[in-house]
Amino acid sequence: MTRIGFIGLGNMGGPMAANLAKAGHAVQVFDLVPDNLTRAIAAGCVAAGDAWEAVSGCELVISMLPAGDHVRGLWLGESAGERGGQDLLAALPAGALVIDSSTIDVASARRVGEAARARGIRFIDAPVSGGVAGAAAGTLTFIVGGEAADFEAAKPILALMGQNLFHAGALGAGQIAKMCNNMLLAIHMAGTAEALALGVKEGLDPSVLSTIMGKSSGNNWSLEHYNPWPGVMENVPASRGYQGGFMTKLMVKDLGLAMALAEHAHSAVPLGALARNLFNLHASQGLGELDFSSILGLYLDKAPGEK
Ligand code: NAD
Repeated sequence: MTRIGFIGLGNMGGPMAANLAKAGHAVQVFDLVPDNLTRAIAAGCVAAGDAWEAVSGCELVISMLPAGDHVRGLWLGESAGERGGQDLLAALPAGALVIDSSTIDVASARRVGEAARARGIRFIDAPVSGGVAGAAAGTLTFIVGGEAADFEAAKPILALMGQNLFHAGALGAGQIAKMCNNMLLAIHMAGTAEALALGVKEGLDPSVLSTIMGKSSGNNWSLEHYNPWPGVMENVPASRGYQGGFMTKLMVKDLGLAMALAEHAHSAVPLGALARNLFNLHASQGLGELDFSSILGLYLDKAPGEK
């Protein structure tokens, strides 16, 4: 049994921490939202009064926060909050391992990782793919940046929350790979919605068209596992009012990170930029909280799900 600190119990962190507790580990958790703590207690975790209490006595700590600002705020003390100015790294013993699974900008991941290293603390960036369903089922994909030895040390714990564990390269490489993946996901989701809308407007049945494209050269992950058309596929956000998936506003965040990366790399990303504009336009219509597959609504000239 390992004593594990876990900070950030939202849509993803909540079920991830629950899987660690289910495997018999002592999981000390903290979140700013009291309801999230209540759910974690019900799942077998031990609630702490703050992040410092959550990491006390832990040699392994996982953070699952919204964005780079939150991660730097927590680990480097760069926040104006109650304990602003106090960095959580100082609470860990040398040799401890920090796994940050948030999707954040590469610069923030590297800054926190380097600050950790300067204190003799091991750090890996380990963003995930697989969504809320994957977090609950323990089938996430972890994409890790950092020292190979630290990746190996983290593997037994990551394996309790995920099925596919990849070492992408040095510190920050996990975030780079995750951004490339999500940019591609945005592009093929928008493309899938566009093709379905075109066929349906010309009289085709969306299920029939999905089956045909799924067995033809247009097949892709969005079509095969996450069909954006309501009712074509069971158990996907499109069939439950676009609730409970990967929110459009988070996709917009990830596409913004991909654009910053492209600028840094002087790499042309015309399709990624177009996808960012499409999802941004969609979010600006007050639909940012809906799952990102609701981008279909842009092509239907009406709100997603509207008859
Ligand atoms: P979320 O907003 O549901 O959860 C984030 C949690 O962090 C919240 O509960 C918030 O209260 C907590 N938090 C913020 N600052 C804190 C602090 N200083 N101390 C303690 N708790 C704090 O977000 P999520 O959907 O769980 O996503 C988390 C990360 O995972 C994001 O970076 C997101 O891009 C990424 N991600 C999400 C999905 C998805 O499908 N939701 C999939 C893959 C990756």
